[in-house]
Amino acid sequence: MIIFPVGKCKVCGCTDNNACVNEYGPCSWMNEEHDLCSACTSDEQAEKVE
Ligand SMILES: [Zn+2]
Ligand SMILES: [Zn+2]
Repeated sequence: MIIFPVGKCKVCGCTDNNACVNEYGPCSWMNEEHDLCSACTSDEQAEKVE
């Protein structure tokens, strides 16, 4: 079992406590690993994980 205690974007370095904000509002995690935020995800790579 893999645990990810703190999410941190591997691209921009934002975290749960320091989310980057764009015209769409604060970013959100785009994967279960919480290492890629919505602000750093291009449309072609976008794959929502509910
Ligand atoms: Zn990011
Ligand atoms: Zn972000």
